[in-house]
Amino acid sequence: MKDERELNAEILRRRMVDNQLIGRGISDPRVLEAFRTVPRHEFAGRASPEESYGDFPLAIGRGQTISQPYMVALMTEALELKGGEKVLEIGTGSGYQAAILSKLAREVWSVERIPELAASSHARLKELGYDNVEVVVGDGTRGWPEEAPYAGIVVTAGSPGVPPPLLDQLDEGGRLVIPVGSGYSQTLAVLEKKEGKIHRRERGGCVFVPLIGEYGWKK
Ligand code: SAH
Repeated sequence: MKDERELNAEILRRRMVDNQLIGRGISDPRVLEAFRTVPRHEFAGRASPEESYGDFPLAIGRGQTISQPYMVALMTEALELKGGEKVLEIGTGSGYQAAILSKLAREVWSVERIPELAASSHARLKELGYDNVEVVVGDGTRGWPEEAPYAGIVVTAGSPGVPPPLLDQLDEGGRLVIPVGSGYSQTLAVLEKKEGKIHRRERGGCVFVPLIGEYGWKK
Protein backbone atom coordinates (compact mmCIF):
# COMPACT_ATOMS: atom_id res chain seq x y z
CA MET A 1 0.00 0.00 0.00
CA LYS A 2 1.21 3.50 -0.77
CA ASP A 3 1.86 5.69 2.23
CA GLU A 4 0.38 9.10 2.73
CA ARG A 5 3.50 10.93 1.52
CA GLU A 6 3.44 9.08 -1.81
CA LEU A 7 -0.28 9.65 -2.29
CA ASN A 8 0.18 13.33 -1.56
CA ALA A 9 3.08 13.50 -4.05
CA GLU A 10 0.91 11.82 -6.69
CA ILE A 11 -1.81 14.42 -6.22
CA LEU A 12 0.73 17.25 -6.42
CA ARG A 13 2.18 15.71 -9.61
CA ARG A 14 -1.20 15.50 -11.32
CA ARG A 15 -1.92 19.10 -10.40
CA MET A 16 1.53 20.12 -11.76
CA VAL A 17 0.81 18.35 -15.07
CA ASP A 18 -2.67 19.87 -15.43
CA ASN A 19 -1.84 23.43 -14.42
CA GLN A 20 1.78 23.97 -15.41
CA LEU A 21 2.15 21.69 -18.45
CA ILE A 22 -1.21 21.09 -20.17
CA GLY A 23 -2.28 24.60 -19.14
CA ARG A 24 0.67 26.05 -21.09
CA GLY A 25 0.38 23.93 -24.20
CA ILE A 26 2.45 20.77 -23.58
CA SER A 27 0.41 18.11 -25.37
CA ASP A 28 2.50 15.01 -26.21
CA PRO A 29 0.68 12.26 -24.23
CA ARG A 30 3.88 10.28 -23.62
CA VAL A 31 5.61 13.35 -22.20
CA LEU A 32 2.65 14.13 -19.93
CA GLU A 33 2.58 10.53 -18.68
CA ALA A 34 6.30 10.65 -17.84
CA PHE A 35 5.71 13.77 -15.71
CA ARG A 36 2.81 12.01 -13.94
CA THR A 37 5.06 9.11 -12.93
CA VAL A 38 8.60 10.41 -12.23
CA PRO A 39 8.82 11.40 -8.52
CA ARG A 40 10.33 14.92 -8.78
CA HIS A 41 10.38 15.18 -4.95
CA GLU A 42 12.99 12.37 -4.84
CA PHE A 43 15.36 14.57 -6.89
CA ALA A 44 14.69 17.78 -5.00
CA GLY A 45 17.07 17.50 -2.05
CA ARG A 46 15.57 18.97 1.09
CA ALA A 47 12.63 20.68 -0.60
CA SER A 48 9.20 19.64 0.69
CA PRO A 49 6.85 17.79 -1.69
CA GLU A 50 4.81 21.01 -2.03
CA GLU A 51 7.93 22.94 -3.06
CA SER A 52 9.17 20.11 -5.28
CA TYR A 53 6.09 20.32 -7.52
CA GLY A 54 5.96 24.12 -7.52
CA ASP A 55 6.12 26.27 -10.65
CA PHE A 56 9.79 27.24 -10.23
CA PRO A 57 13.36 25.87 -10.41
CA LEU A 58 14.88 24.28 -7.27
CA ALA A 59 18.38 24.62 -5.83
CA ILE A 60 20.24 21.27 -5.67
CA GLY A 61 23.57 22.40 -4.18
CA ARG A 62 26.90 23.46 -5.75
CA GLY A 63 25.11 26.53 -7.17
CA GLN A 64 23.09 24.30 -9.52
CA THR A 65 19.33 23.98 -10.09
CA ILE A 66 16.67 21.60 -11.41
CA SER A 67 14.72 23.56 -14.02
CA GLN A 68 11.10 24.53 -13.57
CA PRO A 69 8.81 21.61 -14.57
CA TYR A 70 7.48 23.50 -17.60
CA MET A 71 11.00 24.10 -18.95
CA VAL A 72 11.94 20.41 -18.54
CA ALA A 73 8.71 19.49 -20.38
CA LEU A 74 9.22 22.02 -23.18
CA MET A 75 12.76 20.76 -23.85
CA THR A 76 11.67 17.13 -23.66
CA GLU A 77 8.71 17.62 -25.99
CA ALA A 78 10.96 19.42 -28.52
CA LEU A 79 13.00 16.20 -28.90
CA GLU A 80 9.88 14.44 -30.31
CA LEU A 81 10.91 11.03 -28.96
CA LYS A 82 8.99 7.92 -30.00
CA GLY A 83 10.60 5.35 -27.68
CA GLY A 84 13.36 3.59 -29.60
CA GLU A 85 16.01 6.30 -29.47
CA LYS A 86 19.41 6.70 -27.90
CA VAL A 87 19.63 10.17 -26.35
CA LEU A 88 22.28 12.32 -24.72
CA GLU A 89 21.78 14.85 -21.93
CA ILE A 90 24.44 17.42 -21.03
CA GLY A 91 24.21 18.52 -17.37
CA THR A 92 22.87 15.65 -15.23
CA GLY A 93 22.45 17.79 -12.10
CA SER A 94 19.91 15.98 -9.89
CA GLY A 95 19.07 13.37 -12.55
CA TYR A 96 15.42 14.50 -12.85
CA GLN A 97 15.54 15.31 -16.58
CA ALA A 98 17.44 12.06 -17.19
CA ALA A 99 14.68 10.10 -15.38
CA ILE A 100 12.03 11.78 -17.55
CA LEU A 101 14.03 10.92 -20.69
CA SER A 102 14.46 7.31 -19.54
CA LYS A 103 10.67 6.87 -19.79
CA LEU A 104 10.61 8.20 -23.35
CA ALA A 105 13.71 6.72 -25.03
CA ARG A 106 15.46 3.35 -25.17
CA GLU A 107 18.80 4.49 -23.81
CA VAL A 108 19.94 7.68 -22.06
CA TRP A 109 23.51 8.91 -21.63
CA SER A 110 23.97 11.89 -19.34
CA VAL A 111 27.21 13.87 -18.89
CA GLU A 112 27.94 15.92 -15.74
CA ARG A 113 31.11 17.94 -15.12
CA ILE A 114 30.93 17.96 -11.29
CA PRO A 115 31.94 14.46 -10.09
CA GLU A 116 30.02 14.69 -6.76
CA LEU A 117 26.77 15.57 -8.57
CA ALA A 118 27.32 12.75 -11.08
CA ALA A 119 27.87 10.25 -8.24
CA SER A 120 24.79 11.28 -6.28
CA SER A 121 22.48 11.42 -9.30
CA HIS A 122 23.80 8.08 -10.55
CA ALA A 123 23.07 6.48 -7.14
CA ARG A 124 19.59 8.04 -7.01
CA LEU A 125 18.68 6.90 -10.54
CA LYS A 126 19.79 3.31 -9.82
CA GLU A 127 17.93 3.23 -6.50
CA LEU A 128 14.74 4.39 -8.21
CA GLY A 129 15.15 1.74 -10.93
CA TYR A 130 16.02 3.90 -13.97
CA ASP A 131 18.21 1.19 -15.47
CA ASN A 132 18.46 2.55 -19.01
CA VAL A 133 20.32 5.71 -17.87
CA GLU A 134 24.12 6.00 -17.66
CA VAL A 135 25.71 8.99 -15.92
CA VAL A 136 29.27 9.85 -16.95
CA VAL A 137 31.69 12.57 -15.80
CA GLY A 138 33.16 14.89 -18.38
CA ASP A 139 32.98 18.13 -20.33
CA GLY A 140 29.65 17.77 -22.12
CA THR A 141 30.45 20.60 -24.53
CA ARG A 142 32.48 17.88 -26.29
CA GLY A 143 29.45 15.58 -26.22
CA TRP A 144 30.08 11.90 -25.56
CA PRO A 145 31.59 10.56 -28.79
CA GLU A 146 31.91 6.99 -27.46
CA GLU A 147 28.16 6.39 -27.88
CA ALA A 148 27.37 8.68 -30.85
CA PRO A 149 25.28 9.17 -32.90
CA TYR A 150 22.22 10.25 -30.89
CA ALA A 151 18.66 10.77 -32.10
CA GLY A 152 18.27 13.52 -29.50
CA ILE A 153 20.61 15.73 -27.49
CA VAL A 154 19.41 18.06 -24.74
CA VAL A 155 21.66 20.59 -23.04
CA THR A 156 20.37 21.72 -19.63
CA ALA A 157 22.79 24.61 -19.10
CA GLY A 158 23.07 27.92 -20.98
CA SER A 159 25.72 28.17 -23.70
CA PRO A 160 27.24 31.16 -25.57
CA GLY A 161 26.82 29.19 -28.82
CA VAL A 162 26.16 25.74 -30.22
CA PRO A 163 29.14 23.44 -29.49
CA PRO A 164 30.17 21.92 -32.88
CA PRO A 165 30.81 18.42 -31.43
CA LEU A 166 27.13 18.17 -30.45
CA LEU A 167 26.03 18.76 -34.06
CA ASP A 168 28.58 16.19 -35.24
CA GLN A 169 27.21 13.60 -32.82
CA LEU A 170 23.60 14.11 -33.92
CA ASP A 171 22.12 11.36 -36.08
CA GLU A 172 20.31 12.07 -39.36
CA GLY A 173 16.78 13.22 -38.41
CA GLY A 174 17.98 13.95 -34.86
CA ARG A 175 17.31 17.05 -32.76
CA LEU A 176 19.50 19.14 -30.49
CA VAL A 177 17.76 21.31 -27.86
CA ILE A 178 20.00 23.96 -26.28
CA PRO A 179 19.62 27.29 -24.44
CA VAL A 180 21.86 29.78 -26.26
CA GLY A 181 22.61 33.36 -25.16
CA SER A 182 24.31 35.42 -22.48
CA GLY A 183 25.12 34.35 -18.92
CA TYR A 184 21.82 35.89 -17.73
CA SER A 185 19.24 34.92 -20.32
CA GLN A 186 19.04 32.62 -23.28
CA THR A 187 16.79 31.50 -26.13
CA LEU A 188 15.81 27.87 -26.41
CA ALA A 189 17.13 26.72 -29.79
CA VAL A 190 15.97 23.51 -31.50
CA LEU A 191 18.30 22.31 -34.27
CA GLU A 192 17.32 19.46 -36.54
CA LYS A 193 19.67 17.55 -38.86
CA LYS A 194 17.96 16.75 -42.18
CA GLU A 195 19.89 15.32 -45.11
CA GLY A 196 23.04 16.53 -43.43
CA LYS A 197 21.77 20.15 -43.18
CA ILE A 198 20.93 21.93 -39.92
CA HIS A 199 17.52 23.60 -39.55
CA ARG A 200 17.12 25.95 -36.60
CA ARG A 201 13.97 27.09 -34.76
CA GLU A 202 13.59 29.10 -31.57
CA ARG A 203 11.22 28.37 -28.73
CA GLY A 204 11.31 31.47 -26.54
CA GLY A 205 13.32 32.80 -23.64
CA CYS A 206 14.78 30.91 -20.69
CA VAL A 207 17.32 31.23 -17.87
CA PHE A 208 19.85 28.47 -17.13
CA VAL A 209 23.04 28.13 -15.10
CA PRO A 210 26.14 28.38 -17.34
CA LEU A 211 27.48 25.54 -19.48
CA ILE A 212 31.16 25.53 -18.57
CA GLY A 213 33.73 23.88 -20.84
CA GLU A 214 35.82 23.96 -23.96
CA TYR A 215 32.93 25.01 -26.27
CA GLY A 216 30.90 26.78 -23.55
CA TRP A 217 31.80 29.45 -20.99
CA LYS A 218 35.42 29.38 -19.92
CA LYS A 219 35.12 29.76 -16.14
N1 SAH B 1 19.20 18.54 -15.90
C1 SAH B 1 19.43 18.79 -14.49
C2 SAH B 1 19.63 20.25 -14.17
C3 SAH B 1 20.87 20.75 -14.70
S1 SAH B 1 21.61 22.16 -13.94
C4 SAH B 1 18.33 18.24 -13.63
O1 SAH B 1 17.34 17.72 -14.17
O2 SAH B 1 18.46 18.30 -12.41
C5 SAH B 1 22.98 22.25 -15.05
C6 SAH B 1 24.02 21.19 -14.83
O3 SAH B 1 24.95 21.28 -15.89
C7 SAH B 1 24.80 21.37 -13.54
O4 SAH B 1 24.76 20.19 -12.80
C8 SAH B 1 26.22 21.68 -14.04
O5 SAH B 1 27.24 21.18 -13.20
C9 SAH B 1 26.23 20.97 -15.39
N2 SAH B 1 27.23 21.42 -16.36
C10 SAH B 1 27.67 22.68 -16.62
N3 SAH B 1 28.58 22.66 -17.61
C11 SAH B 1 28.72 21.36 -18.00
C12 SAH B 1 29.52 20.67 -18.98
N4 SAH B 1 30.37 21.32 -19.80
N5 SAH B 1 29.39 19.33 -19.08
C13 SAH B 1 28.55 18.64 -18.28
N6 SAH B 1 27.79 19.22 -17.34
C14 SAH B 1 27.87 20.57 -17.20
